[in-house]
Amino acid sequence: MLQQTQVKTVRERFYFPFLNKFPTLKSLAESPQQDVLKAWQGLGYYNRAANLHKSARLCKGRLPRTIDGLIALPGIGRNTAHAVAAFAYRQPVAVMEANLRRVLSRIFALENPSEAELWEKAQTLLDKRDPFDYNQAMMDIGSDVCTKRAPDCPVCPANSMCLGQASPESYPAPKQKKSVPIRKKNILVRRNRKGEFYATPRQGKFLNGLYHFVEIDGSLPPSKGQHLGAVRQQYSHFTLEAEIYLEPANSSGRDWHSLAQLKKLPMSMAEQKVLKLLSS
Ligand code: SF4
Repeated sequence: MLQQTQVKTVRERFYFPFLNKFPTLKSLAESPQQDVLKAWQGLGYYNRAANLHKSARLCKGRLPRTIDGLIALPGIGRNTAHAVAAFAYRQPVAVMEANLRRVLSRIFALENPSEAELWEKAQTLLDKRDPFDYNQAMMDIGSDVCTKRAPDCPVCPANSMCLGQASPESYPAPKQKKSVPIRKKNILVRRNRKGEFYATPRQGKFLNGLYHFVEIDGSLPPSKGQHLGAVRQQYSHFTLEAEIYLEPANSSGRDWHSLAQLKKLPMSMAEQKVLKLLSS
């Protein structure tokens, strides 16, 4: 949940409501995927929700206790497996997240460390007697003390061993920002005579399972349809710029939903913006 969403927002809007809705692995496993995606709506990275749901189903109410068993579940990589093992089972393993990569790079004055090098350094520093407190402390240093722009070296508990404190901003070496491409699309919102709208769940990796309207690549306006407005949405690997058109249709059936039904379906931020245009 914390990928690209602030702790405060996650705590207030997502984490506790999610736990209330799915208090156990069993309840998560037994819920339809659509309900899980709806509870995740707004967090992005929907594959995580889908994988969490798949993992809950696979492990039948009980998480594996070994790192290999955890990594075998969909969506669980080395860091998540180590975090579960260290925090839930007190196993002597280090965790690694974005802030920790920065802290370790500074402590060991590494400009361009590889993942393998960082894992090795993390494991050498680990307090094997107390992996819970050690990992929590390192994460706190990463978020509150050794921040990206204003590391507070005089109060840092790692300053006696830190090789990079003379110029922390050099570690790791700053990366050039990649430019993000813009994808132009037309989104066609088909409405039938009963006032229902056509929307289907997406297939494939991107936003899998979330409902969407008809999308057409390019920016040429469709031959018929009323222009409703435009939406812009930033994703990690591209920016969507879409013109929205309302199109009359004659069909009806399974994939046709009233506006009230649409609002209950899991949808991405872009589709939610389209819903706002429809509502207004
Ligand atoms: S001493 Fe400074 S640079 Fe080193 S880990 Fe602490 S805050 Fe970061």
